[in-house]
Order: sequence, then structure tokens, then C-alpha cells
Amino acid sequence: MTVRITKAFAFDAAHYLPNVPPEHKCGRLHGHGYRVVLGLEGPLDPALGWVQDYGDITAAFRPLLERFDHARLNDLPGLENPTAELLAAYIHRELKPVLPLLTDVTVCESPTSTAVYRP
Ligand SMILES: [Zn+2]
Repeated sequence: MTVRITKAFAFDAAHYLPNVPPEHKCGRLHGHGYRVVLGLEGPLDPALGWVQDYGDITAAFRPLLERFDHARLNDLPGLENPTAELLAAYIHRELKPVLPLLTDVTVCESPTSTAVYRP
């Protein structure tokens, strides 16, 4: 039996998009209340009845949470152009080695703007 689970996190951060046209509002420094949803999929552990302990996912994401929260994302190596899409790919790249069941990363910049990275 294979099950998909998700775990969500929230943080506040600032960014600007350096490659947009000069008149584009996203070129100015601004902040978002980001929400990140990690998707994992795998077989149920027959004894425990779960795919993975949610606590393991929280522990795996904690270093990223500390890196992102109240930071200017552009200052982080690899996030010089921190669009939601590239942030989702960055998170996937950082977490896949420690969360092998990770299948997708969703980054919500606002209640209406979301990027889903699913390589
Ligand atoms: Zn923005």
C-alpha cells in the first residue's frame, strides 16, 4: 500500500526579483508570508502504519526554516533569483538527500500564487 503524505511549514522572508524589467513591482524589495508544503510518497511501514514520521520531516526542514525565516532570500547562495519556482527547486535539492521519499515541493508566496516543483 502506497500513500502520499504532506507536511506544511510557514515562514516570513523578504526578496526581490533581480531579472524583471525595471518597472516591475517584484524588482523592489518586499516580503511574503511563505507557506511550503512537502509531499512524500512511499509504502506504509507494516508495523507503524505510516509512510514516515512527521517529526522526521519537521527535523529535516528545520535547518532550511532557520535559513529562510526573516532572511532576505537573495542573500542565500543559490537563491540569487528567488522566484517561488526556484525556491521550490532549491528546497527539493536540499531535502532529497535526507528525505528520499520526497516527491514534490509546493511554495505559496501568497494565498493565490503557488509553484509546485515535481521533478
Ligand atoms: Zn515576491
